[in-house]
Amino acid sequence: MSQIVSEILAANANYVSQFGEKGKLALPPARRFAILTCMDARLDPAKYAGLSEGDAHVIRNAGGRASDDAIHSLVISHKLLGTLEWFVIHHSNCGMELFTDDVIADLLDDDLGTAKFDGKAWSNSHHSGGHAAGHFVKWHTIANQAASVLQDVRRIREHPLVPAGIPIYGYVYDVHSGRLEEVKEATAAGRAKK
Ligand SMILES: [Zn+2]
Repeated sequence: MSQIVSEILAANANYVSQFGEKGKLALPPARRFAILTCMDARLDPAKYAGLSEGDAHVIRNAGGRASDDAIHSLVISHKLLGTLEWFVIHHSNCGMELFTDDVIADLLDDDLGTAKFDGKAWSNSHHSGGHAAGHFVKWHTIANQAASVLQDVRRIREHPLVPAGIPIYGYVYDVHSGRLEEVKEATAAGRAKK
């Protein structure tokens, strides 16, 4: 067993020993909201937004982008599980700012192993076994955090399966302070319509 697998199973055994009443939680989120945010390891939505098990839906992907898949989860979150308010939370120093669709597609085309970043550019350590499939993917990279939050809030707002009555709030999480900074233009674009 890998070191990480052992560590996770040990942590889980500890969690189980303190699980208590959580087995009785209802399936729908008790506080009736959902957060779409980045997978960045420095972000812990349970901590930065004060969530406990059973409170809310957290949908994560690279960048916290409003991809089709993320929107499908949000639609399920409201339609079947009753959430009434949604947050789009991107963050400063996001890895999605460090490359473009062409950059990642070229890197993958050359080699599938982990690339290196020297602070300016990405490069592969090896050059074999790549694949061209990356050229056909839209990676949803980010040039500007406030702009990406606005774009995503607008995209969700305008989606035909999203009811007009759900407010969508836009924020950028600051990785240096832990603070959520509102993107006012995004929250305005995400305002609920009656
Ligand atoms: Zn990120």
